[in-house]
Amino acid sequence: MKTTQPPHIVYRPVTGSSLAVDLRSLRKVHGRGRQAVIALHDFNHAIPRGSFTAVMGPSGSGKSTLLHCAAGLERPSSGSVTLAGQELAGLSERQLTLLRRDRIGFVFQDFHLVPALSVAANVALPLRLAGRRPDPCRLEELLSTVGLSDKRHRRPGELSGGQQQRAAVARALVTGPEVVFADEPTGALDRASGRDVLGLLRDAVNDLDTTVVMVTHDPQAAAWADEVLVLADGRLVDRLAGSEVTAETIAARMAALEV
Ligand code: ADP
Ligand code: MG
Repeated sequence: MKTTQPPHIVYRPVTGSSLAVDLRSLRKVHGRGRQAVIALHDFNHAIPRGSFTAVMGPSGSGKSTLLHCAAGLERPSSGSVTLAGQELAGLSERQLTLLRRDRIGFVFQDFHLVPALSVAANVALPLRLAGRRPDPCRLEELLSTVGLSDKRHRRPGELSGGQQQRAAVARALVTGPEVVFADEPTGALDRASGRDVLGLLRDAVNDLDTTVVMVTHDPQAAAWADEVLVLADGRLVDRLAGSEVTAETIAARMAALEV
């Protein structure tokens, strides 16, 4: 389909809004009638720019729904999402797609790399899709940061899981996004590979001022974050920050929740 004019998004100028994600009275109901499931109840939370947030909670507690609503992948039933200074409710599907493409990065549990493309082409793909020519130096630097310079011509199928996920992190960062959303990014990896991936996300926050929001069920992974949100039955039931963010404390809080 060819459109005569690209849809225009009027981004609110970055007038020092220090919030990367602002969720207000967020509610999400999946299905309807007797099948309806309330995945999020009146959820309120603000995530500062340049921070690393982990989202935890039992299976079915609403973690993925929260991530999808915050990232503009799913529309909430009510309430508001402000992402990178932009209130999402007023945006069309096309505008949401552009916002995600240009200003948001995603990392998935199962990598989602394109099998037929080389590592370098996978990493550069978000730029290509945006009609931007990848700067070879910048691309090389990014591949080097994630330790894949020597694998740049390989296909994803020729890499280990950890290497594939590092490529996926490079792809998520290539546009210089304001927010990276990661749903169980270490869920399919061994401990050592998981640590590498978490280190890269942490570095993106510390060095590039990226905001990272990561769903995980692993207390050791969550301990890399600045703040840990704990969900149960679609509600925020606990928050840990500062010195509370250790694998031991997180594991204890999660264990208490299971009782
Ligand atoms: P989590 O990621 O914490 O496991 P989810 O956000 O996937 O939780 O799901 C929260 C609740 O919403 C669960 O009860 C789940 O069954 C339900 N749910 C999620 N997605 C859908 C969907 N597309 N249709 C119906 N129910 C859904
Ligand atoms: Mg989930």
